[in-house]
Amino acid sequence: MNHDRAMATDDYYAVLGVDRRAGPDEIKKAFRSLTKQWHPDRHPDDLEVAERYRRINEAYNTLGDAAARARYDMTQRLEGIELRRGSGGQGARDLLGQVFGDVFGTRRERRRRGRDLRYTLTVSLPDAVRGSSHDIEFEAPGPCDACRGTGTRPGGQPPQTCSLCGGKGEVKGEGLLARRSPCGRCSGLGLVQPDPCQACRGRGTRRHLRAFVVNLPPGTEAGAERVLTGEGEPGRFGGTAGDLRVTVNVTPHPWLRREGDELLCELWLSVSEAAAGAKVPVPTVDGMVHVDVPPGVRSGTKLRLRGKGAPKRGNGRGNERGNGRGSGRGDQLVTVVVETPVLGGAPHVAEALRRLEEACAVAPGSLPRRHAQRAAFEGERSSES
Ligand SMILES: [Zn+2]
Ligand SMILES: [Zn+2]
Repeated sequence: MNHDRAMATDDYYAVLGVDRRAGPDEIKKAFRSLTKQWHPDRHPDDLEVAERYRRINEAYNTLGDAAARARYDMTQRLEGIELRRGSGGQGARDLLGQVFGDVFGTRRERRRRGRDLRYTLTVSLPDAVRGSSHDIEFEAPGPCDACRGTGTRPGGQPPQTCSLCGGKGEVKGEGLLARRSPCGRCSGLGLVQPDPCQACRGRGTRRHLRAFVVNLPPGTEAGAERVLTGEGEPGRFGGTAGDLRVTVNVTPHPWLRREGDELLCELWLSVSEAAAGAKVPVPTVDGMVHVDVPPGVRSGTKLRLRGKGAPKRGNGRGNERGNGRGSGRGDQLVTVVVETPVLGGAPHVAEALRRLEEACAVAPGSLPRRHAQRAAFEGERSSES
């Protein structure tokens, strides 16, 4: 388990695919549906799914609790300032780092490792489903140019073991129940810079504009995480760099909704289009297509656009192609809804409908089901009285 993960928290809202202003019910609903979808029992031996399940639970543990959520929103604001704006958030972040002090072995190594950076990448549904490449840019700590990340002034003495803690990184207090606490002189790192670089004050890192390309594979879902190994904060005193962890946030599409490898949408038709059939435009993640609606279509009918859904996930039975992804794409399901005319604003529509009703009345074959049902019901009512 990577300890540093505890320091920089994930974007829990993006993981659950909810808005920052979402109410408790909406959050609970998103959590329930995601845990159902990403339950490890449904995807045995899939480590990616197990990790996603863990992150969903972690997000809900915080967002599902009002007090924990308020605290999280506060730290997010601090971290958000840090990642986007540059100056100002450093102090708060250092404080956080101390709150989550090291408790496991190889302490110094971990302290010297650079922290992870978190970035939330917001993309459209088509970009997520089809796969896409994104340039991202933000201000964050990177290696200092002046000292090449060493923290030592050019030509100065190399780092030395801290004399206060003897390189242990921590000091022991007085008394029987004395606790160990991080060394104040070296901040727990065990090493100090006798000749610190002027530009970075010996940290080896400086904030500057950092740019990356994030590639999303086809079928990326809201809440997915892409890890750019070693692209986080540089380590100190030769420690490894942290990672850049990008959480994908998918903006809701005005017409399309994703459910697993299927995309769903509604298609509104007029009474006459439904009766006569029509060729109508329908949005897909690949752009607009024209769909032939058959004559006599009923409200609720689902038309299937094959291969217009999201890529299928591998089901672990050996039919995958590539890196564990399933073969082919799912379908888009278009649910037909016949729109009942609104009479208020259009007198001639009302007139046309009256004439339609009269015409149907003398031609029972035009509305066979309604005719048969009405006849049966009318008959029943008269036999009761
Ligand atoms: Zn420097
Ligand atoms: Zn020390």
